[in-house]
Amino acid sequence: MEYTLKLTPEQAYNEQSIRRYLQEEKGVRSTTLWVKRRSIDARQRQVWVNLTVETDPDGSVFRVEDFKEKDVSGAKSVVIVGAGPAGLFAALRLIERGLRPVVVERGKDVHERKKDIARIRPEQSVNPESNYSFGEGGAGAYSDGKLYTRSKKRGNVESVLRLFVQHGASPAILSDAHPHIGTDRLPRVIENIRERIRRSGGEVHFQTKAESLIIKGDRVEGIVAGGHEYEGEAVILATGHSARDVYRYLHESGIEIEAKGLAVGVRLEHPAQLIDSIMYHSREGRGRWLPAAEYAMVDQVDGRGVYSFCMCPGGFVVPAATGPEQIVVNGMSPSGRNGRWSNSGMVVEVAPTADDPLCMMRYQEELERLCWLQGNRKQTAPAQRMADFVNGRLSTDLNESSYAPGLVASPLHFWMPKEISERLREAFRLWGRRYRGFLTNDATVIGVETRTSAPVRILRDRELLRHVRLVGLYPAGEGAGYAGGIVSAAVDGQRCADAAAEYIINER
Ligand SMILES: Cc1cc2nc3c(=O)[nH]c(=O)nc-3n(C[C@H](O)[C@H](O)[C@H](O)COP(=O)(O)OP(=O)(O)OC[C@H]3O[C@@H](n4cnc5c(N)ncnc54)[C@H](O)[C@@H]3O)c2cc1C
Repeated sequence: MEYTLKLTPEQAYNEQSIRRYLQEEKGVRSTTLWVKRRSIDARQRQVWVNLTVETDPDGSVFRVEDFKEKDVSGAKSVVIVGAGPAGLFAALRLIERGLRPVVVERGKDVHERKKDIARIRPEQSVNPESNYSFGEGGAGAYSDGKLYTRSKKRGNVESVLRLFVQHGASPAILSDAHPHIGTDRLPRVIENIRERIRRSGGEVHFQTKAESLIIKGDRVEGIVAGGHEYEGEAVILATGHSARDVYRYLHESGIEIEAKGLAVGVRLEHPAQLIDSIMYHSREGRGRWLPAAEYAMVDQVDGRGVYSFCMCPGGFVVPAATGPEQIVVNGMSPSGRNGRWSNSGMVVEVAPTADDPLCMMRYQEELERLCWLQGNRKQTAPAQRMADFVNGRLSTDLNESSYAPGLVASPLHFWMPKEISERLREAFRLWGRRYRGFLTNDATVIGVETRTSAPVRILRDRELLRHVRLVGLYPAGEGAGYAGGIVSAAVDGQRCADAAAEYIINER
């Protein structure tokens, strides 16, 4: 039986409290309960939690169908470049299709990678092969693990969420309207996926950077990495949006790519308590029963979209650069979302203006370098109090912040490109009027957020998903320009694996 419920936060707090409500108010006794949808309605002073729950006397609807493990050790191989969500979910799908994935990843395994990330603060520099974007799990590994997507293909999204659960994520992600795994839990899930690939007869190679494709005629038959050739019936290229050397290689080799619009801006960090009290309309903040509050802002300013991006309630701002002379910030949060601050990217759309496939990548590079120069040529990020940024004043001192490498006071309103800073200032004024208390000097603007999506699209056939010219090459995930976020990258990886499987079965 399915029920649609409107409960107080206390009634909706956990499965037990929902079950108690069902029994007392509806006379329903249920041992098994599936929360199919959960969303918080905080538009009024009284916050409500809207739930769709299914009760199940014999437990049959709650079983998460198991991954169909196969021994593919003797099967035809497909090379996958990149062990991010796109690459890993492509590998799982290939196994289901009876093919052998050979995954090559430039970074380290998720455990070793964590150590390099921890070194960013004391060393004030980033390891260019092992960082927040490169390494097992890809950019998603030390992220918030938010699993929402605008994708309308419910079946595909659910299949990804179910695979996450089968590999160790909480089943709650199947029911939450805004599911998230948490940065503290993601690595274990990723390790389980890697072990699954190896157990099935696939391969996963770390610290193995793909340098070039093996192309025979118009056919791609493998890759070269570290002087070693990895051959396969097809290649899935899932290298993410930060692999600039890959984009350069493709461009120099005459492989068809085009510039893609993206959005750039800053990270905005508020005290979490302040966001809770604004969004839940209560001085006490979120109280005992509610999660840290989220927000989503979007407006048009002077003909361009300005919006919040990847909001992390109770989270941290992190140094997400992938090379020297760059500052890039991003955000993440642990599963409890109980940190002192809540942050979000605040970004403005930028469209390609030059006839150069790499022009948007160069735009990102210039801005990241400018930010690094302003940040004292270290990983200390230039920052400004929010109201000072809006009013065009230098901040004489800064708020405490979650950004571990440290902040340095800087006039971002002055040195950021005007097309970005002016629109952000206007949007902040607008949102300050809409949400009292939002525009405040207790919040900090931190530069710069540039890696919101890929600056390049690798051109592929819409139906066959393979490159427009090179047969056997499947550009996948965020780096190819066809996904944004963990779930959509994973879904795209699965689709490319299916397309590669069809090609191998029908054309090889
Ligand atoms: C700090 C942070 C927080 C984020 N938070 C969220 C969130 O909460 N929710 C969400 O949906 N998204 C989030 N994102 C974005 C999300 O992580 C990406 O959208 C997603 O990981 C893209 O998946 P992908 O597999 O396409 O690429 P990636 O995850 O970028 O993976 C690409 C992989 O390819 C490897 N690689 C690159 N070049 C080579 C090469 N030459 N040879 C071999 N390997 C190579 C890289 O090392 C990397 O592991 C966050 C990103 C960051 C950085």
